[in-house]
Amino acid sequence: MSALSFFVGKGGVGKTTVASAYAVYRANSKPRRPVLLLSTDPAHSLADVFQVRLGSKLRLLPLGGSAKLTVWQVNAELQFRKFLDRYRVAIVSLLESGTLFSREEIEPLLDTTLPGMAEMAALLAIHETLERGRYAEIVVDTAPIGHTLRLFEMPEYFARFLDLLDLAGSRDQVLAEHFGGSVAASNPFIAEWRAMVGAVQAALHQRESRIVMVTTPEEFALQESVRTAKAMLSAPDPLHVTDVILNRAVRSDGHCLICKQSKARTKAAAQFVQRNFRGIPMHVAEDLGGPALGARTLLEFGRHVFAGKKLRPIARTPAKKDDVKLQPTQWPALKTPITWTTGKGGVGKTTLSAALAVNQRKHAPARPVVICSTDPAPSLDDVFQKRIGNRPVSVAGDAKLRAAELDAAAEFRAWAGEMKAKINDAFSSDVRGLHVDLSFERRVLTALLDMVPPGVDEIAAIFRILDLAGEKQTLLVDMAPTGHALELLRMPGRILLWSRLLLKSLAPHRRMSLARDVAVQIATLSHRVRELANMLKDGRSSRVVPVMLAEPLPDRETTRLLGALDDLGISTSELFVNRVLFAEDVNHCHRCQAAREWQMETLSKLRRRHRGKNIYVVRNRAREIAGTAALKSLIGELWQIV
Ligand SMILES: [Zn+2]
Repeated sequence: MSALSFFVGKGGVGKTTVASAYAVYRANSKPRRPVLLLSTDPAHSLADVFQVRLGSKLRLLPLGGSAKLTVWQVNAELQFRKFLDRYRVAIVSLLESGTLFSREEIEPLLDTTLPGMAEMAALLAIHETLERGRYAEIVVDTAPIGHTLRLFEMPEYFARFLDLLDLAGSRDQVLAEHFGGSVAASNPFIAEWRAMVGAVQAALHQRESRIVMVTTPEEFALQESVRTAKAMLSAPDPLHVTDVILNRAVRSDGHCLICKQSKARTKAAAQFVQRNFRGIPMHVAEDLGGPALGARTLLEFGRHVFAGKKLRPIARTPAKKDDVKLQPTQWPALKTPITWTTGKGGVGKTTLSAALAVNQRKHAPARPVVICSTDPAPSLDDVFQKRIGNRPVSVAGDAKLRAAELDAAAEFRAWAGEMKAKINDAFSSDVRGLHVDLSFERRVLTALLDMVPPGVDEIAAIFRILDLAGEKQTLLVDMAPTGHALELLRMPGRILLWSRLLLKSLAPHRRMSLARDVAVQIATLSHRVRELANMLKDGRSSRVVPVMLAEPLPDRETTRLLGALDDLGISTSELFVNRVLFAEDVNHCHRCQAAREWQMETLSKLRRRHRGKNIYVVRNRAREIAGTAALKSLIGELWQIV
């Protein structure tokens, strides 16, 4: 069986680059062992890293000599459809035999975009390549951390879903036993699914398989990696981190103040890793001062990280760029009742969101502000240096500034609890006589509500936002990294589609009071969701503020993000570029000068590309921003590209 190597880590720690460097290094050191590099991140960047065009199919890349590497950016939608088409008949007939719904009611639901599709598709893609048996090693570049955990929980979730289907499918059997008949049991495709889940689980637990945690020396990334490692260990199917990579490490400081602090931070981080990941090998990856782009640079970087080779400075510097002029400006007020911030992981979107919220309180002292994180790996508590939970609590010593980190799973369980109570009521009072049949429906529905479905983050987030947006306050939503943020913004439209389908399905069951209750609830919800969907497209009610770094990869991702927002009819009028190095900050340091050159090239491109937008520039701080004082100092200065 192929070995699986999973690369996990907080967004922005350079996971894709490190996973790519590893894959290139492995493919190169043993050219006869075929290696596949597979990305399951909905915001793909493999094509950017390798500087090639990649469609949704596997592509074989020559690496020089006889070495080759196959790369695959998994298209979740496509992968999922392929799977669904294969099992459509079996799924529909199972659901039809096991639930109140008829074939005509189930089919249209299967054709919509289902929650958890990305995670499911990733699992399917991994299984498909395991089956194929062509690769000695499969390297998986996963989505940012919160969603990675969801991916690892998929086999368990899937197993429970299969139990449910088994139960649903046994309905005819139960009825037959009760009334003295007989039905042919067992569904061959359930067995097939089980085998698939088992195969992925087994592959993950092989001795040759690896779970590689990538982190940077930054406090937030380190904390997150420890949290994730713990969560993976306490999962129903515990997984152990096998390697830790300390990326963007600085071990030689020249005479530069920035690098001197980075060096101190690296040293502390290495000790932190050794303390918290006892006995697990740590690989140190030196900061390049520029992006590792293209197979050749990746190989060199891979040799450095995984074989301990000394890193030669990257020869490439950006092509000639125009001069970029910056002028000082004020932090902008939030102009709409709802503001959504997003950006690639690790760009400091939560820090800037917190700064925008603190700044907003100065602009409109009478109006409360709520900042709500829908990121499954939230860091508002790290930024405000305060415990923040599912319910809003006041932060920064200001009663009118409140913060919340959405706990989607808890939110779903609370809702499911209410629904279960209703179902129990309905089934005990509504009908007699058909006792066997309905107690069965109850078992199926209760089993369904006991699972926290994948994709619940975005749904729960929309419900929460509906609650918060109703009150007289300014709302700032700190969203998950790009790919999942787009999922969130698409969610209102999807909820509207599902509610239409569900209402249609419930209509024939009007006789049951439960069905009537549910129909009323769905109708009310869809009314509110429609309002939110309209707000999203109205620049006076809501706007999206992208946050980025002045580096080539975040730049390309932001361009794609803006395109996708345009497609959704959502306009953006401003853009934040975080951590820009100023000339007086870099002095004579080679690494920082190279980094600044890449930044200036990106900034000049940005100015040309987004003429009509306000492009704000936040200066790089040697220290991380944490706590009220740091936030207040951050909103003391801001620049704008002229
Ligand atoms: Zn430096």
